Amino acid sequence: MTFPPSATPLPDVARVLVVSAHPDDVDFGAAGTVARWVDEGIEVTYLLVTRGDAGGFDDTPREQMPLLREAEQRAAAKAVGVTRIEFLEGYADGTLTPSLQLRRDLTRVVRRYRPDRILTSSPLRRWERIAGPGHPDHLAVGEAVTCAVYPDARNPFAFPELLHDEGLEPWVVREVWFHGGPDPDHVVDITATFPRKLAALAAHETQTSHEDVEARLRPWLQSVASSGGLPDGSLAEAFTVLGTA
Ligand SMILES: [Zn+2]
Repeated sequence: MTFPPSATPLPDVARVLVVSAHPDDVDFGAAGTVARWVDEGIEVTYLLVTRGDAGGFDDTPREQMPLLREAEQRAAAKAVGVTRIEFLEGYADGTLTPSLQLRRDLTRVVRRYRPDRILTSSPLRRWERIAGPGHPDHLAVGEAVTCAVYPDARNPFAFPELLHDEGLEPWVVREVWFHGGPDPDHVVDITATFPRKLAALAAHETQTSHEDVEARLRPWLQSVASSGGLPDGSLAEAFTVLGTA
């Protein structure tokens, strides 16, 4: 099972919602692209399902981790120009499933922000590497977001309390971008925004301060760029882009 070839991205996107399981997911997978969208005047909102409370690599007291990681994600967002950021409550890092509760919580946010495009983690696993994008929380969020896009957010009879009690009208998200999935074929040149992606990643001190992130990312992003036919020395992120009609 894999994705079909990517659709041509919509030309008239005003609002993008980025949904992530953990702080740092969007920054590893897509921050260079997000910075480009911000530069183009697109309004970008981050939604985090957890505060990454199972992350880290040192002896930071565990009860501090969610607070630290929320602050890190807010700083990372600022590094790429994103100022709207929200965290769901009640979900613990490492426990996510595409539950009805998560679908309802995502549908609420979708109907409130009314994005044209959603960017999230792939619901499909890449079998050549079990770590990283294949984290079960990433897969669960990708699946739950897809269910929120269709049918939940657009169907007035899905989670009817959202309409009746909260006045949240149905909304059609027209396009979905996935990062971290198999065979991503829509390549975005991030050569110009790479410094901002690095700044965003450096903001995740509890996750990245023990390694040379640039040394690890550069060759990978260069190979993505060359797979997309970009000039030598370019850097790129890659996605699958799907229309939702
Ligand atoms: Zn993650």
